[in-house]
Amino acid sequence: MSINKPKDDVSKATLTGGCLCGEVTYQVNHQFDNFYICHCRQCQQLTGSAFAANIFTAPENVTWLSGHEAISNYNHPSREFSNAFCSKCGSALPFLNKSGQSLIIPAGSLFDAFEKIPDASIFVNEEAPWLKAGLSGEKFDNFPSKI
Ligand SMILES: [Zn+2]
Ligand SMILES: [Zn+2]
Repeated sequence: MSINKPKDDVSKATLTGGCLCGEVTYQVNHQFDNFYICHCRQCQQLTGSAFAANIFTAPENVTWLSGHEAISNYNHPSREFSNAFCSKCGSALPFLNKSGQSLIIPAGSLFDAFEKIPDASIFVNEEAPWLKAGLSGEKFDNFPSKI
């Protein structure tokens, strides 16, 4: 822990985000509505992890800075579920929900710190059976030496 590290500024009017490979970048107005941790099976498969962390905002709040043409979309045929990802690196990126009324921002795609914390966990009846045990397990700052 460094005592000299400045505190992250969580009050910026606009935040930037993008994908891991750097192809796609965007800017979003810092006006967030809801923030949900989604435990549904689709989000588990999509992220390869236990849940998705999605922030909801108005569609007009986003400005694409680069790589918009590199975004691929997927719409689930039967469930209220869609997503967007970089066709080069697979990172999750903002997308419109099916009704087109909300822009959904994967929280991990934001580069900047922000103040909002999740409002709720949803679809908890589908929660990964290993999540709680995993979070309460041993903790390391890096790979443990046995790897
Ligand atoms: Zn990418
Ligand atoms: Zn979900």
